[in-house]
Amino acid sequence: MHPRKKLIAGNWKMNKTNGDAVALVKDIVTEAGKVTEVEIVIAPPFTALESAAKALEGSNVKLAAQNMHHEASGAFTGEVSAPMLRALFATHVILGHSERRTYFQESDAFINQKVLAALKNQLKPILCVGETLAEREAGSTLKVVQTQLEAGLEGVSKEQAPSVVVAYEPVWAIGTGKVATTDQAQEVHAFIRGLLVKLFGEAIAQKVRILYGGSMKPANAPELLAQKDIDGGLIGGASLEARSFVELIKAAEAAK
Ligand code: PEP
Repeated sequence: MHPRKKLIAGNWKMNKTNGDAVALVKDIVTEAGKVTEVEIVIAPPFTALESAAKALEGSNVKLAAQNMHHEASGAFTGEVSAPMLRALFATHVILGHSERRTYFQESDAFINQKVLAALKNQLKPILCVGETLAEREAGSTLKVVQTQLEAGLEGVSKEQAPSVVVAYEPVWAIGTGKVATTDQAQEVHAFIRGLLVKLFGEAIAQKVRILYGGSMKPANAPELLAQKDIDGGLIGGASLEARSFVELIKAAEAAK
């Protein structure tokens, strides 16, 4: 049996008003709310978290935020904190997404503060790492991923590490329809696993889920999810519609 339960997470980004979000959650819950072999997480925008939490109550679908601030409270206009997310029953938080790194200049050090704050507040961070096209073409993919991963996980203890989820998202594959080949993805996933072994030891590294993200769709998911170190997917576009998201959950069930 595989040591890690597969995880399918939907990143809705800045999509869905509250009413649309509730409708989508209800459809996902109807189709996949009783699935136990795959961990399912959805990340609606902040404005829909509370109603999404109500709509998924009693199901196996879990709730994530797409970002947070590392301080618990204070003068940080426009931000939300880990305790606020916990109060809305979020269990996970996406951190260091490439869109936040690019459009909001989030640095590795800043992301690391958020990772530590999430863990301190019993929120599971989904830490995103990945190279741009220019970095891949320059041959620096592994170096970029190593820097982002090690800096993002600085100060995370061995006890906390199994709560971390890593998402490898090649920036050139996000929202572009260009998916990494299974070999390209598995190479980086195995490299990340090796880094986790160095940081936390073999037994703990084997517990950490490493998701692939970047134009994952029902058609390409089975092959990706069959790879040894690909433990699920962080899904953007295909998570905005119940049918494709549920198909991805079924693909992960079949790949377990
Ligand atoms: C993402 O933004 O995390 C993502 C993987 O998006 P998409 O699936 O649309 O490429």
